[in-house]
Amino acid sequence: MLDEFRNYQQGVLPAGPGARSLTEFFASIDGRLDPPVAPKTQRSDRDLLNLLTKRAKVPHLGPANYCWFTDPSRALYLKLAGTPTTDRPLVWMCDSTRCPQATHQPCHRPVWAEHAQRCLRR
Ligand code: SF4
Repeated sequence: MLDEFRNYQQGVLPAGPGARSLTEFFASIDGRLDPPVAPKTQRSDRDLLNLLTKRAKVPHLGPANYCWFTDPSRALYLKLAGTPTTDRPLVWMCDSTRCPQATHQPCHRPVWAEHAQRCLRR
């Protein structure tokens, strides 16, 4: 999570349905780190992690996306599975191209590129 926040600060933004939400969240955290906006600055990585983890306990790391799982009710498959209140995503059922809780980071690019190449060979 800290790595992704640092990427955001460097201008390396996520893609995917949840990208805007995550970017807005990072912007709100970054605003709190700015001394002119917030007199009480949070400079250590521990303080920063405390702010970041308010959004989600931890991102769930998938091979092709990160799942931020902030709201189980937004995961359609949990409704279909009859477990809309579970506290963990069912990552094996992930549909990251349509889920508003999914983001794609630069580290996921090789997986998507390989998939695209396989599709082109068919
Ligand atoms: S579809 Fe994927 S990104 Fe969305 S909640 Fe499920 S596991 Fe997370």
